[in-house]
Amino acid sequence: MHITKAEARKILAQKRAALTDSECMKLDDLLLIQLQRIDWSSTSILASFYPLAHKNEPNTLLFEKYIKTLYPFIRFCYPIVQAKINAMDFYFETETLQLNAFGIQEPLPFNKVTPDLIDSMLVPLLGFDQKGHRVGFGKGYYDRYLAKAGKDLQKIGVSYFEPMDNFTDTNEFDVPLTCCITPWNTYEFE
Ligand code: ADP
Ligand code: MG
Repeated sequence: MHITKAEARKILAQKRAALTDSECMKLDDLLLIQLQRIDWSSTSILASFYPLAHKNEPNTLLFEKYIKTLYPFIRFCYPIVQAKINAMDFYFETETLQLNAFGIQEPLPFNKVTPDLIDSMLVPLLGFDQKGHRVGFGKGYYDRYLAKAGKDLQKIGVSYFEPMDNFTDTNEFDVPLTCCITPWNTYEFE
Protein backbone atom coordinates (compact mmCIF):
# COMPACT_ATOMS: atom_id res chain seq x y z
CA MET A 1 0.00 0.00 0.00
CA HIS A 2 1.33 3.42 -0.91
CA ILE A 3 0.48 6.52 0.98
CA THR A 4 0.81 10.31 0.67
CA LYS A 5 2.96 12.31 3.06
CA ALA A 6 -0.14 14.09 4.39
CA GLU A 7 -1.90 10.75 5.08
CA ALA A 8 1.21 9.39 6.80
CA ARG A 9 1.55 12.58 8.86
CA LYS A 10 -2.01 12.24 10.14
CA ILE A 11 -1.70 8.54 11.02
CA LEU A 12 1.66 8.97 12.74
CA ALA A 13 0.66 12.08 14.69
CA GLN A 14 -2.31 10.14 16.10
CA LYS A 15 -0.19 7.09 16.87
CA ARG A 16 2.36 9.23 18.63
CA ALA A 17 -0.24 11.18 20.62
CA ALA A 18 -1.64 7.88 21.91
CA LEU A 19 1.67 6.88 23.55
CA THR A 20 1.75 7.04 27.35
CA ASP A 21 4.69 8.55 29.26
CA SER A 22 5.91 5.11 30.28
CA GLU A 23 5.72 3.84 26.69
CA CYS A 24 7.75 6.86 25.53
CA MET A 25 10.38 6.21 28.19
CA LYS A 26 10.73 2.61 27.12
CA LEU A 27 10.99 3.61 23.45
CA ASP A 28 13.62 6.23 24.39
CA ASP A 29 15.72 3.55 26.13
CA LEU A 30 15.50 1.33 23.05
CA LEU A 31 16.41 4.26 20.75
CA LEU A 32 19.46 4.89 22.94
CA ILE A 33 20.62 1.32 22.31
CA GLN A 34 20.38 1.90 18.53
CA LEU A 35 22.19 5.21 18.91
CA GLN A 36 25.05 3.41 20.66
CA ARG A 37 25.65 1.40 17.47
CA ILE A 38 26.41 4.52 15.43
CA ASP A 39 30.07 5.38 14.86
CA TRP A 40 30.54 8.84 16.39
CA SER A 41 34.33 8.88 16.10
CA SER A 42 34.44 11.17 13.04
CA THR A 43 31.83 13.60 14.34
CA SER A 44 33.11 16.88 15.79
CA ILE A 45 29.93 18.93 15.51
CA LEU A 46 26.55 17.32 16.06
CA ALA A 47 23.25 19.09 15.39
CA SER A 48 20.49 17.91 17.70
CA PHE A 49 17.01 19.15 18.63
CA TYR A 50 15.24 19.83 21.89
CA PRO A 51 12.16 17.63 22.35
CA LEU A 52 8.70 19.02 22.94
CA ALA A 53 7.86 16.72 25.84
CA HIS A 54 4.07 17.07 25.73
CA LYS A 55 4.15 16.16 22.04
CA ASN A 56 5.76 12.78 22.80
CA GLU A 57 8.97 13.54 20.96
CA PRO A 58 11.98 11.27 21.53
CA ASN A 59 14.04 12.37 24.53
CA THR A 60 17.17 13.60 22.78
CA LEU A 61 18.55 14.83 26.13
CA LEU A 62 19.11 11.18 27.07
CA PHE A 63 21.07 10.67 23.84
CA GLU A 64 23.05 13.86 24.43
CA LYS A 65 24.09 12.68 27.89
CA TYR A 66 25.34 9.37 26.49
CA ILE A 67 27.25 10.96 23.61
CA LYS A 68 28.82 13.67 25.80
CA THR A 69 30.01 11.10 28.33
CA LEU A 70 31.71 8.89 25.73
CA TYR A 71 32.73 11.56 23.21
CA PRO A 72 33.42 14.71 25.24
CA PHE A 73 35.04 16.42 22.23
CA ILE A 74 31.77 16.49 20.25
CA ARG A 75 30.19 19.94 20.21
CA PHE A 76 26.39 20.17 20.15
CA CYS A 77 24.36 22.75 18.28
CA TYR A 78 20.61 23.36 18.20
CA PRO A 79 18.18 25.11 15.88
CA ILE A 80 16.84 28.61 16.27
CA VAL A 81 13.80 29.11 14.06
CA GLN A 82 12.68 32.17 12.17
CA ALA A 83 9.01 31.28 11.97
CA LYS A 84 8.07 34.17 9.65
CA ILE A 85 10.17 32.77 6.83
CA ASN A 86 9.95 29.05 7.79
CA ALA A 87 13.72 28.97 8.19
CA MET A 88 16.15 27.93 10.88
CA ASP A 89 19.84 28.12 11.69
CA PHE A 90 21.95 26.12 14.11
CA TYR A 91 23.84 27.68 17.05
CA PHE A 92 26.22 26.15 19.56
CA GLU A 93 24.43 25.33 22.79
CA THR A 94 24.45 27.94 25.55
CA GLU A 95 23.93 27.48 29.27
CA THR A 96 20.84 29.65 29.20
CA LEU A 97 18.04 28.55 26.89
CA GLN A 98 14.96 30.43 25.74
CA LEU A 99 11.55 29.29 24.54
CA ASN A 100 10.50 30.09 20.98
CA ALA A 101 6.97 30.77 19.71
CA PHE A 102 6.30 27.01 19.44
CA GLY A 103 7.35 26.42 23.07
CA ILE A 104 10.58 24.73 21.97
CA GLN A 105 13.84 25.50 23.77
CA GLU A 106 16.54 27.32 21.82
CA PRO A 107 20.12 28.33 22.61
CA LEU A 108 20.95 32.03 22.76
CA PRO A 109 22.08 33.29 19.33
CA PHE A 110 25.79 33.73 20.09
CA ASN A 111 27.64 31.28 17.87
CA LYS A 112 26.07 30.34 14.56
CA VAL A 113 27.22 27.12 12.93
CA THR A 114 27.15 27.14 9.14
CA PRO A 115 25.70 24.00 7.48
CA ASP A 116 29.06 22.95 6.03
CA LEU A 117 30.55 22.64 9.54
CA ILE A 118 27.99 20.13 10.82
CA ASP A 119 29.18 16.50 10.63
CA SER A 120 26.05 14.71 11.86
CA MET A 121 22.49 15.71 12.57
CA LEU A 122 19.75 14.07 14.63
CA VAL A 123 16.69 14.79 12.51
CA PRO A 124 13.25 14.97 14.14
CA LEU A 125 10.38 13.49 12.18
CA LEU A 126 6.94 11.99 12.40
CA GLY A 127 7.81 9.12 10.10
CA PHE A 128 9.88 7.86 7.20
CA ASP A 129 9.56 5.42 4.32
CA GLN A 130 11.64 2.51 3.00
CA LYS A 131 13.70 4.88 0.85
CA GLY A 132 14.59 7.21 3.71
CA HIS A 133 12.12 9.91 2.77
CA ARG A 134 10.94 11.79 5.76
CA VAL A 135 7.60 13.14 6.88
CA GLY A 136 8.19 16.14 9.08
CA PHE A 137 5.70 18.50 10.54
CA GLY A 138 4.72 19.79 7.12
CA LYS A 139 6.51 23.11 6.89
CA GLY A 140 9.70 21.97 5.20
CA TYR A 141 12.10 23.48 7.80
CA TYR A 142 14.57 20.60 7.56
CA ASP A 143 14.30 20.25 3.77
CA ARG A 144 15.03 23.94 3.39
CA TYR A 145 18.00 23.76 5.77
CA LEU A 146 19.44 20.53 4.37
CA ALA A 147 19.35 21.97 0.85
CA LYS A 148 22.21 24.23 2.04
CA ALA A 149 24.25 21.39 3.58
CA GLY A 150 26.83 19.22 1.84
CA LYS A 151 26.31 15.61 0.79
CA ASP A 152 28.67 14.41 3.54
CA LEU A 153 26.38 15.49 6.36
CA GLN A 154 25.20 12.35 8.16
CA LYS A 155 21.44 12.80 8.58
CA ILE A 156 20.20 10.47 11.31
CA GLY A 157 16.42 10.23 11.60
CA VAL A 158 15.02 9.44 15.04
CA SER A 159 11.70 7.60 14.86
CA TYR A 160 9.48 5.93 17.43
CA PHE A 161 7.88 3.89 14.63
CA GLU A 162 9.05 1.55 11.88
CA PRO A 163 9.16 2.75 8.22
CA MET A 164 5.96 3.24 6.26
CA ASP A 165 5.44 2.02 2.70
CA ASN A 166 6.87 4.45 0.18
CA PHE A 167 5.35 7.90 -0.01
CA THR A 168 3.74 8.66 -3.36
CA ASP A 169 4.27 12.41 -3.37
CA THR A 170 7.85 13.11 -2.42
CA ASN A 171 9.34 15.95 -4.46
CA GLU A 172 12.77 17.33 -5.37
CA PHE A 173 12.84 19.32 -2.11
CA ASP A 174 12.57 16.23 0.13
CA VAL A 175 16.12 15.53 1.29
CA PRO A 176 16.42 11.80 2.15
CA LEU A 177 17.96 10.60 5.42
CA THR A 178 21.36 8.85 5.54
CA CYS A 179 19.98 6.46 8.13
CA CYS A 180 17.16 6.23 10.64
CA ILE A 181 17.05 4.70 14.10
CA THR A 182 13.88 3.20 15.51
CA PRO A 183 13.53 1.43 18.87
CA TRP A 184 14.16 -1.93 17.17
CA ASN A 185 16.30 -1.27 14.10
CA THR A 186 18.76 0.96 12.33
CA TYR A 187 17.96 1.53 8.65
CA GLU A 188 20.69 2.64 6.26
CA PHE A 189 19.79 4.35 2.98
CA GLU A 190 21.94 4.82 -0.15
P1 ADP B 1 7.98 18.31 5.75
O1 ADP B 1 9.30 17.99 5.08
O2 ADP B 1 8.09 19.27 6.90
O3 ADP B 1 7.21 17.09 6.08
P2 ADP B 1 7.03 19.00 3.11
O4 ADP B 1 8.06 18.08 2.57
O5 ADP B 1 5.60 18.75 2.74
O6 ADP B 1 7.08 19.11 4.71
O7 ADP B 1 7.45 20.49 2.69
C1 ADP B 1 6.65 21.61 3.08
C2 ADP B 1 6.77 22.71 2.04
O8 ADP B 1 8.09 23.24 2.02
C3 ADP B 1 6.48 22.20 0.65
O9 ADP B 1 5.60 23.11 0.03
C4 ADP B 1 7.84 22.19 0.00
O10 ADP B 1 7.76 22.34 -1.40
C5 ADP B 1 8.52 23.37 0.68
N1 ADP B 1 9.99 23.27 0.59
C6 ADP B 1 10.75 22.29 1.11
N2 ADP B 1 12.06 22.47 0.82
C7 ADP B 1 12.12 23.61 0.11
C8 ADP B 1 13.21 24.35 -0.49
N3 ADP B 1 14.47 23.90 -0.42
N4 ADP B 1 12.90 25.49 -1.13
C9 ADP B 1 11.63 25.91 -1.21
N5 ADP B 1 10.57 25.28 -0.68
C10 ADP B 1 10.80 24.14 -0.04
MG1 MG C 1 9.73 17.12 3.27
